Amino acid sequence: MGFFSSTAQGKKIYHKTDEEVELMRAANLIVSKTLAHVATLLKPGVTGKALDKAAETFIRDLGGRPAFKGYNGFPASLCISYNDIVVHGIPSSREFREDDIVSVDCGVEWQGYYGDAAFTFALGAVPQPTLELLEVTYASLYRGIEQAIVGKRIGDIAFAIQHYCEREHPYTVVRELVGHGIGRSLHEEPEVPNYGKRGQGLLLQDGLTLAIEPMVNMGRREVYQSDDGWTIHTRDGKPSAHFEHSVAVRKGQADVLSTHEFIHEAIKNNPNLKTVSPKSENFAAQKN
Ligand code: MG
Ligand code: MG
Repeated sequence: MGFFSSTAQGKKIYHKTDEEVELMRAANLIVSKTLAHVATLLKPGVTGKALDKAAETFIRDLGGRPAFKGYNGFPASLCISYNDIVVHGIPSSREFREDDIVSVDCGVEWQGYYGDAAFTFALGAVPQPTLELLEVTYASLYRGIEQAIVGKRIGDIAFAIQHYCEREHPYTVVRELVGHGIGRSLHEEPEVPNYGKRGQGLLLQDGLTLAIEPMVNMGRREVYQSDDGWTIHTRDGKPSAHFEHSVAVRKGQADVLSTHEFIHEAIKNNPNLKTVSPKSENFAAQKN
């Protein structure tokens, strides 16, 4: 068994054993391969519904269960959020265009353990300033992951992401939606905000598993939820980007359980997509 600790609010936090972390890695491998499969299919004219159908089949063929499907009534296996949609977009019959950015978020349950990761793709005609938003958001994810080590606090992850996006770059971090603990459920304690203060919040201990997922806007930070009860849009209609990894807190360096490696390979082989890399700096975790 792993061990429990409590937040200041008395909420239970479950720290995973090494065996449980390996089960999560297996779940995340299905997530990662599914996102790469989606990357092979994404092009102008294809619909979110078609991508979702292909992803569900792919996940089930690998022995996984799409964790989003039916979660609080969510109707699909993927969240597909393009352009001004921040997150939680329901796959629709709208056809993608050559200047869209498309965030694809995937969750999988495998043998009782969960994986969760996301990537924002850029189709061929995405303008440079939008690509820059993606690269900075992607880099901010690794800034956060660098802080996911024993002895740091949740606020250190939050501050690193916010500072990078809002101080070192001219973007804004969404406040209403946050990352989360993950493992034996898709969403566990603690919350992992993308804004906050250094040295505050839960002390990170070995085996704590987190989904870190910055949601970063080109313009103002305000968002609203559409009438479907899910889709989150930027209020100013400007683009928003989203990248996510599942990680295990370890001493010295976080263990990144999901991988974007297959995605990068798929993008390279899909002429309809632009390369999206973390803004060029050296990150310890960038290899993932
Ligand atoms: Mg996710
Ligand atoms: Mg998540």
